Amino acid sequence: MSDLVSIFLQLLLFKLVAPVTFRHHRYDDLVRTLYKVHNECPHVTRVYSIGRSVKGRHLYVLEFSDYPGIHEPLEPEVKYVGNMHGNEVLGRELLLQLSEFLCEEFRNRNQRIVRLVEGTRIHILPSMNPDGYEVAAAAQDRDISGYLVGRNNANGVDLNRNFPDLNTYIYYNEKNGGPNHHLPLPDNWKNQVEPETQAVIQWIRSFNFVLSANLHGGAVVANYPYDKSLEHRVRGFRHTANTPTPDDTLFQKLAKVYSYAHGWMHQGWNCGDYFPDGITNGASWYSLSKGMQDFNYLHTNCFEITLELSCDKFPRQEQLQREWLSNREALIQFLEQVHQGIKGMVRDENYNNLADAVISVSGINHDVTSGDHGDYFRLLLPGTYTVTATAPRFDPETVSVTVGPGEPKLVNFQLKRSTPPAAPKRRGPNSGHRGRVLPKKVQPRAAKKKEMMMKQSQRVPA
Ligand SMILES: [Zn+2]
Repeated sequence: MSDLVSIFLQLLLFKLVAPVTFRHHRYDDLVRTLYKVHNECPHVTRVYSIGRSVKGRHLYVLEFSDYPGIHEPLEPEVKYVGNMHGNEVLGRELLLQLSEFLCEEFRNRNQRIVRLVEGTRIHILPSMNPDGYEVAAAAQDRDISGYLVGRNNANGVDLNRNFPDLNTYIYYNEKNGGPNHHLPLPDNWKNQVEPETQAVIQWIRSFNFVLSANLHGGAVVANYPYDKSLEHRVRGFRHTANTPTPDDTLFQKLAKVYSYAHGWMHQGWNCGDYFPDGITNGASWYSLSKGMQDFNYLHTNCFEITLELSCDKFPRQEQLQREWLSNREALIQFLEQVHQGIKGMVRDENYNNLADAVISVSGINHDVTSGDHGDYFRLLLPGTYTVTATAPRFDPETVSVTVGPGEPKLVNFQLKRSTPPAAPKRRGPNSGHRGRVLPKKVQPRAAKKKEMMMKQSQRVPA
């Protein structure tokens, strides 16, 4: 064979082989792919681990940002979580495709992607349950079918039924008054959850995430909180009942953005079910306790929805390209949704940033808080709102804001220290401060949590 023919054949072979990135990735392959993307886009990515699975596999996250590893004030944090159920694998593959796509398009100077990466910090966890995945993939190789093989983690626990149940508290508080956000964790929560769940909880507590989606399979629908039905179990009946959050219209819109940008989700008829607009309230479909999306909403500032992406939980490799093409626009548009509503800084009179300040919107019984850098993000639909910022030992500040459909409106707050109450006339011999105003200090998160927890425990029903 002449050299020229050989080179030609090799080129042909390369051309046939090279584009096949649409394959299922076992764990080692997944890790290699994340590092490959990082090596191709080292200045806008970072790989980090949030912990380990039961079997010791790292739960790797790929981050995209113009300053990886750094929170830039007023730049929102978004996340995608895939493969929480080990046998629901499409999300895992889509998130790897998304990672490659973001990197490639950033390098190609695709203006939409450059804008997204420079203005958003994106965290991608392709597999929350790598142990379950390996079981599911091995079964697939041996052609062992089973609807549930590999769903749970290595301890046999369903991770989407493993988060602390905060719904019971919020349903009580919604009726009787009490905190409407950042409900505290039970004291011994670490003993009650699996290693993967613990890793995710610590992760979502350490970043001020604003928006998130959790990718599943087995149906095609965008599902929004609450997942747990408010109504009590009725004997003999499946207790499903629409159980909206105070942010119901916003959640419906977020879900619709995905379903309408998806190839066919919005059509509604999928996998033998019908969902108008391709969206559903979780509890009105079927009620579940201790799920991840309710936990995000009740314990953090993060608004999470659950995306069911394929009838077949483990689609054949040949279907992956078609699935990617029908999800790509939806995955990008959903990330862009973090840029709506209002955001801003909360500071004191001396321009010190105030963390943990509470931002309330009248008419929506769910507050958000400012992050460690004093910045806050409040997703809102277009409209006019009365917004109040409060912080301990400061006077509240209220403004009226009109939000348009475009970029979020910048609304900064500068809070004035409240006048201290008059000092008591008689003082004990060891009564410190001698009437001075206490030094300025932001109330530490832990102390605030503890205070809330105490308030909470008085209110919890028996
Ligand atoms: Zn699932």
